[in-house]
Amino acid sequence: MSDDENKPARKPLGLKRSVDAGEVKQTFSHGRTNKVAVEVKRRRKLVKPGEAAPPPPPPAPAPAPEPAPAPAPVAKKAAPKKAAPAGETPQERVARMAREAEEARLRMGEESRKREDEEARQREEDEKKRAEENRKAEAEAEKQAEVEAKTEEEAPVAAPEEQVEAPAEDAGGGPAPAPRRFTPVARPETKKPEKKKKTDKRPDAVAPERPDKRRAGKLTVNRALNEDEGRRARSLAALKRAREKERRMQGGPSKPREKQVRDVIVPEAITVGELAKRMGEKGADLVKELFNLDMMVTVNQTIDQDTAELLVDQFGHNIQRVSEADVDIVNDEDRDPEETLKPRPPVVTIMGHVDHGKTSLLDALRGTNVTKGEAGGITQHIGSYQVKTKDGNTVTFLDTPGHAAFTEMRQRGANVTDIVVLVVAADDGIMPQTIEAINHTKAAGVPMIVAINKIDKPGANAQKIRERLLEQEVVVEAMSGDVQDVEVSATKGIGLDELLEKIALQAELMELKARPDRLAEATVIEAQLDKGRGPVATVLITRGTLKKGDTFVVGTQSGRVRAIVNDQGKQIKEAGPAMPVEVLGLGGVPSAGDVLTVVENEQRAREVAQYRQEKATEKRTALAPTNFDTMFNNLQSDVVEFPVLVKADVQGSVEAIVTALHNLSNDLIKVRVLHAGVGAITESDVSLAAASKAPIIGFNVRPNPKARQLVARDKVEMKYYDVIYHLTEEIAKEMAGELGPERIEHVVGRALVKEVFRSGKKDKAAGLLVEEGVIRKGLHARLTREDVIVSATTIASLRRFKDDVDEVRTGLECGVVLADTNDIKAGDQLEVFEVEERERTL
Ligand code: GDP
Ligand code: MG
Repeated sequence: MSDDENKPARKPLGLKRSVDAGEVKQTFSHGRTNKVAVEVKRRRKLVKPGEAAPPPPPPAPAPAPEPAPAPAPVAKKAAPKKAAPAGETPQERVARMAREAEEARLRMGEESRKREDEEARQREEDEKKRAEENRKAEAEAEKQAEVEAKTEEEAPVAAPEEQVEAPAEDAGGGPAPAPRRFTPVARPETKKPEKKKKTDKRPDAVAPERPDKRRAGKLTVNRALNEDEGRRARSLAALKRAREKERRMQGGPSKPREKQVRDVIVPEAITVGELAKRMGEKGADLVKELFNLDMMVTVNQTIDQDTAELLVDQFGHNIQRVSEADVDIVNDEDRDPEETLKPRPPVVTIMGHVDHGKTSLLDALRGTNVTKGEAGGITQHIGSYQVKTKDGNTVTFLDTPGHAAFTEMRQRGANVTDIVVLVVAADDGIMPQTIEAINHTKAAGVPMIVAINKIDKPGANAQKIRERLLEQEVVVEAMSGDVQDVEVSATKGIGLDELLEKIALQAELMELKARPDRLAEATVIEAQLDKGRGPVATVLITRGTLKKGDTFVVGTQSGRVRAIVNDQGKQIKEAGPAMPVEVLGLGGVPSAGDVLTVVENEQRAREVAQYRQEKATEKRTALAPTNFDTMFNNLQSDVVEFPVLVKADVQGSVEAIVTALHNLSNDLIKVRVLHAGVGAITESDVSLAAASKAPIIGFNVRPNPKARQLVARDKVEMKYYDVIYHLTEEIAKEMAGELGPERIEHVVGRALVKEVFRSGKKDKAAGLLVEEGVIRKGLHARLTREDVIVSATTIASLRRFKDDVDEVRTGLECGVVLADTNDIKAGDQLEVFEVEERERTL
């Protein structure tokens, strides 16, 4: 009996609640979980089209008991069962009841559905034929339609069999029929029909009509299409699909997943939005899911591959992990065969402390073979030149900016460098940047030649320099080491040839080679936005030959070589290994150290550039909170922000300044660069600065006239520099000022609150015993209860035996009133302290 009771109780549930009902059924029929599960899915879909939906599930259990009978018999047997309730299992009974209620309707539905499926198949075939024949002539199309009409007439005959097949499918999940039924789903054209279908809300009503229409006449193309829609409108399966589509559009649950399992390509990092797109899911759904994983992210934020995998799994798709290498160009992976390599000039970087004469030395070396006139024509920023030695060898020189803030670039520079010339001024000696240069050179494993400069100066002492170099473990030849050294004077032109000779000697030992006949690869030494020419990069060709018209990627930019300008300011058609040249035709300003790679075609260039841009965005957003913990931490932190805008004349300076500024940050104050860029200070810079109350740092740049007006109006603080360390020094001072003077506490006394009593109308006074030090009126005080600070205040009044006093010492009792607080309890501790303010230094 209990079974019987359960059944009726559950069955209504099933009838009313389409989706839940399926689940109820599932627990109910434990023994046949599989079949029930299959049924549930079907049933859900059936439910939506019409109120009658529930019945379909019941049929499933019914056939189930019979061990996979042929489709046709199953249906027939189901009917008889109605009449023989005695031997029924619970499932069978449910099935029977459902069947009784809905049999007629269902059968109609199934019938039409089957027929449709059959027709769909036939139509597909026909359509293929028709597609070909349509091209020929309309008349032929008509004939074709006739053929089709005939085949359709056959459909009803086939229908009964198939109709029988359908329930079996439902029950046993017969694999063969199932896909067939879904074929229409997969066909793109079904999408349009679905929409129209929605308008035909009653599938049952329409269903019978369809066959009539079909049989009524010939099929033209138009007709076929229209009928297509009509037919589908009536199809239960189609309605299900429509439902699902609707649900999907409403951001409904994950049902569509079941059908559309996607292979989702996931790179090492991906934005939630992009992942959603690739999964074919709603971004909001992913965000929700992430929220459930305790991750607070927006669709625009980036998640890593592992997190993405979680999501992809969760939504039932397959992840396909790809690594950087799959998209990006990894230059060191393709090595040129030995036999393709040809000797190339050495690339020499000149390093040294500021003002030790690097630029002068370079100018002097260049002066040996570049006429003054030509030299004047050379673009200012091209800090690289080729010099021909007397023996006809070529040497490429890179001038690196002198200050420590350029360290980063210098490090990058060292990668393309074969030989370092360390310039040390004989009258100044080993300075901090000299040591830095030595360390970078050693780290890069690059041979060094020491040029002891300003040897012409009266105070010059080359020997002393050699000795001092020993401290840095640089042992020059004169000190029986293996580092070559030369005494030079850049201004007087002393020792230049000797320096070039030694460079050539060193280069010879190194057997420097590169393959010239391949797509070029180059390293950006410097880049800037040129007013007339757009983004311009000075690059050093590392291998291959760069040609006008080449398509390339450089950093996050793609481009096409519009012009190549050599170190003498002349346009050239191509540039080979170790040549420093200016390249025009970039999509944007790249960063110093970026690698320029020529690629086969524009598409590849864009693909790589876009990929890199995405990665760059990810890096920038990487600081965004990814879960509650970090969010909380961020809220809690009381780090002061020091916002600035940075504008400089060249990209290298921008980078150096930003790096230097970031280095000024500490736990208390952080520099926040709102914007950094190359070029004049513009109106938009000024308005951003004004809005953020940030100063603008201009390095070798000034505001344009319009910006100047805004500066005056909005009173934006402008800071102009041309030396980076002046800039950092001053900003550091400002930042220190921003934090205010340092507060240092000196605890002068501690007391115990023994009792609390009223004082005047509102206040409470505390009776204290001074346990340590002294208590003085006006001092800062902290009240603690069980070591938790209750209030931070000051001593408003201090009394001893009703007399106001200034100070009470250890061991004595007194009464105090604390400013701004009455939360005092006996047993509290009072800590009294003085505050000293000191000027802060960063
Ligand atoms: P950099 O900062 O290392 O590039 O140094 P510069 O090339 O700008 O030179 C700094 C200063 O030193 C300039 O005033 C030069 O004229 C001067 N200078 C450079 N080389 C020599 C030299 O060999 N002898 C003398 N007397 N002065 C030099
Ligand atoms: Mg210089």
